[in-house]
Amino acid sequence: MPKRIGALRLTWDPGLQLPFESGWSILRKVMILNNLSEYELGDLISRPNKQRTKSRIRNSADSSWIDFNRFSELLEVPARELKNGFWDQLGIKVVGGEKSTSRVCSYCWHSHQYHCLFFDLSWVKRCPWHNSEICRPNTLGKPAKPLEVLRSDLDQMSLEKLLSVSPMERDDRHRVIGHVVEYLEWWRAVQAKVPAADVLLHRLVSTAELTEQSRLELGWQAGFAKQQAPLQYGSWILEKTPTTACRYLQVTDAGRKPGFDNDRTTVGDATGRCYRSIRRHIFRNYVRRHRRCLSKLAAIDQDDRLSLTGSGVCATGTCQ
Ligand SMILES: [Zn+2]
Repeated sequence: MPKRIGALRLTWDPGLQLPFESGWSILRKVMILNNLSEYELGDLISRPNKQRTKSRIRNSADSSWIDFNRFSELLEVPARELKNGFWDQLGIKVVGGEKSTSRVCSYCWHSHQYHCLFFDLSWVKRCPWHNSEICRPNTLGKPAKPLEVLRSDLDQMSLEKLLSVSPMERDDRHRVIGHVVEYLEWWRAVQAKVPAADVLLHRLVSTAELTEQSRLELGWQAGFAKQQAPLQYGSWILEKTPTTACRYLQVTDAGRKPGFDNDRTTVGDATGRCYRSIRRHIFRNYVRRHRRCLSKLAAIDQDDRLSLTGSGVCATGTCQ
């Protein structure tokens, strides 16, 4: 990477940055090494005119506020390596964001202070590298603590501790990259098969703690995703999900069959009946008594439309 003469630099050891380490973890190490506060680091790497807050630094799902060219120059690290720590840069819309709980593998954490971005996915059960259970750090031999305290636990790493972290061997780095790429390739295959997979199958890209209800939804969504794109190697131990595959019905416009515009050709199954019922409810309660005003509104010209007032008229604008 070409060096710009006179450019500001931060103290950084490239050996401290591990493959697919979460953005939050990297930012934290930079702050410790350079004795910077969150606000000071935010000022250095924020895009112009981007308001940044404390919580943004802790949210690895949204990096839109970071100027990666600037960040890359400050650390003398390729921007693409820094981007690997953020979900949005990997093209995955993760649910949970700043409210999520950081989860670690005890071996990764104690050996290298390594927090892999993918460990935060709530359905990932074990570290594929060590086969060790992934958990919140407060369960590593300590009594449970509220999330706020947990965060400060992770934040309170001293400079001495950071400098004493053992480096990750090259072979181990390659193994970690291989595991993450395996997962990424599977999810890319799911995204290719399922439009809006990040929304439709949001439990699979959620970092929020699992509840009884979300675990149930996870099972349905995992069954559907695996049916669309089977997991090839299975090195990731995931939350146990039932083998029953879930099937999503194609939702058609107001219960009509695709390719037909009139109401006579409607879908007779539950989806069609449900949509027609909702349509009838909206028509009877909100549209029918305003049919005359709606047709007036549709007919008025641009000048009249711009001069409509909100006093003494109905919600559609013309009916007294
Ligand atoms: Zn591990």
